[in-house]
Amino acid sequence: MSQKYYQKEIETMSAEDMKQLQSEKLVKQVKHVYDNVPYYKKLMDEKGVRPEDIHGIEDLHKLPFLTKADLRDAYPYGLLAKPLEDCVRIQSTSGTTGRRVVAFYTQHDVDLWEDCCARAITAAGGTKSDVCQVAYGYGLFTGGPGLNGGSHKVGCLTLPMSSGNTDRQIQFMMDLSATILCCTPSYAAYIGETLKEQGYKPEDIPLKAGIFGAEPWTDEMRRSIEATLGIKAYDIYGLTETTGPGVAFECSEQTGMHINEDHFYAEIIDPETGEVLPEGSKGELVFTSLDKEAFPMLRYRTRDICVLSRKKCSCGRTLVKMAKPMGRTDDMLIIRGVNVFPSQIETVLLNEGYEPNYQIIVDRVSNNDTFEINVEMTQGVFTDKVSEILAMEKSLANAMKTMLGINPTIHLVAPKSISRSEGKAVRVIDKRKLI
Ligand code: ADP
Ligand code: ZN
Repeated sequence: MSQKYYQKEIETMSAEDMKQLQSEKLVKQVKHVYDNVPYYKKLMDEKGVRPEDIHGIEDLHKLPFLTKADLRDAYPYGLLAKPLEDCVRIQSTSGTTGRRVVAFYTQHDVDLWEDCCARAITAAGGTKSDVCQVAYGYGLFTGGPGLNGGSHKVGCLTLPMSSGNTDRQIQFMMDLSATILCCTPSYAAYIGETLKEQGYKPEDIPLKAGIFGAEPWTDEMRRSIEATLGIKAYDIYGLTETTGPGVAFECSEQTGMHINEDHFYAEIIDPETGEVLPEGSKGELVFTSLDKEAFPMLRYRTRDICVLSRKKCSCGRTLVKMAKPMGRTDDMLIIRGVNVFPSQIETVLLNEGYEPNYQIIVDRVSNNDTFEINVEMTQGVFTDKVSEILAMEKSLANAMKTMLGINPTIHLVAPKSISRSEGKAVRVIDKRKLI
């Protein structure tokens, strides 16, 4: 029997009760952060706001924002709000200029995160009778560990596959009759293509649902994956700074993702002025983690452009919904689910003795991201010997892989052959149609 909600009382709570709960948590959280994080205390002091000024959610706008730059400045321990001995886990993601974001978790934080993922799995129809194949990357990346924990909480038989090794994924999926697949949408599409090539029809595939996120994907892509795998595909959203996937999840209505707002309070702001915008406006999504202990983010600017809606949802959940992110306010690219900043590529080029004359070309071919970088040879390293060029391309690709975590195809091109722009250089050509 399908269980509709994982934590019904929270997921269907009335707006007034939710606001009350959020307010109580916020007051405590602000005090916790002020008392334990000198970095944030300083930000609050500079803004002239004290914990006593925060009586509830209506006062949230008085608090200063946190940005990725703050995470960089405070790396690694500067935003830690609990003694390290109370922390049980870190997860990490690539950040600007190559410095990683390291997020800390107490056991309470891990639990809360896994509950959020369990809500997502339940909303996708998951119960303890399901076999849940987790094909997100494990390790530092939040995808694998988050969904793995959620799957345990729901009581599914969990297949901790991690990503890659597609033949083995398919073998386990078929032999163990996996019913739920969790991975990035591009990997789901790739698994789908491979199954098709191997002669499987949708009705031969035991899956009934998929939970796909960590990167932008379109409704067309959703329909294509649904048709190939014979499933219903659900979106899931999150970021390492707030815990990982599960901050928001899709329900049967498939029109936006419910935000787990008892843990993460969402605001939409004008990215230029910082002003909070009314419901329904498009702007930058900002999250406040209301009860995370070790690494609480107050008013963290995600840089994702988004819209919130409180329209009644047919699934019965009252949690506010966010639209699919509609773009970013910075130049971050998400390629094969990995965050890539052009500045990281520049750093590698400079380290390897090249000039920062390059162009990134991203495309999506058969639902798979392609990632190429054209790099000009400098006069100093110029050669027209094919074997030397190939060796140089290989070595540069390796250096990029070390920095970015994914492998680009490098094309070394003649000096001065990449067209120069009068204004802002066109560094990125993204041919994917994601929005
Ligand atoms: P994750 O582990 O979830 O990928 P990261 O911290 O590496 O987390 O990246 C977070 C960013 O990934 C978000 O700010 C957003 O831009 C993007 N993202 C995550 N989930 C989705 C999604 N479902 N749709 C679109 N973008 C997403
Ligand atoms: Zn719903």
